[in-house]
Amino acid sequence: MNLILLGPPGAGKGTQAQILVDRRDMVQLSTGDMLRAARTSGTEMGRRVADVMDRGELVTDEIVIGLIRERLEQGSAGGFIFDGFPRTLAQADALGDLLAEFGQSLDAVIELQVNDDVLVDRIVGRAEQARAAGQPVRADDNAESLKVRLMEYYKKTAPLIGYYHAKGNLQSIDGLAAIDAVAAEIKVLLDRCA
Ligand code: ADP
Repeated sequence: MNLILLGPPGAGKGTQAQILVDRRDMVQLSTGDMLRAARTSGTEMGRRVADVMDRGELVTDEIVIGLIRERLEQGSAGGFIFDGFPRTLAQADALGDLLAEFGQSLDAVIELQVNDDVLVDRIVGRAEQARAAGQPVRADDNAESLKVRLMEYYKKTAPLIGYYHAKGNLQSIDGLAAIDAVAAEIKVLLDRCA
């Protein structure tokens, strides 16, 4: 089972992906996490992506598709949860090609619907919590980068909703519900696909 979680920054994709990893034998592929790991690795690629990420802009398709390809090559018994990928139509096309190349298919695309006010509150709240706990705050969790991240989402990622709707994969759920309620809805949808 291969699944995409789609939605703006702060929609809860990472939280739901983690729940799925705990409950099913699935692997979470978060390009955001992979890029944050790359930027601390001291590589040339890491240096190139750091500034782009901090501004809230998207990293090039070439880089993220390369990261995804490397991980897909290793396989996963229970399938993959794509979290934060694809973020552009070119990435969506590339994912379709990669899955086909590895003899896999896309089983579901679940859109977490939320409104912008909540996103800003959640992300600012996440930064404040981290600060209070003495943990590092993500460099892009500030009002200025967030504005850019939301604009990038609407310009480049939101068109994927139409794209997957046309392909017949899209299912949308209310991302404003409580974490457990969202998880329960996702479970219903996935059980239906299985
Ligand atoms: P969020 O969804 O909270 O914005 P992520 O951790 O998914 O955070 O992504 C953080 C940043 O990493 C993005 O703003 C972007 O710069 C980069 N990034 C992550 N995934 C992609 C992707 N698929 N394509 C391009 N850039 C990406």
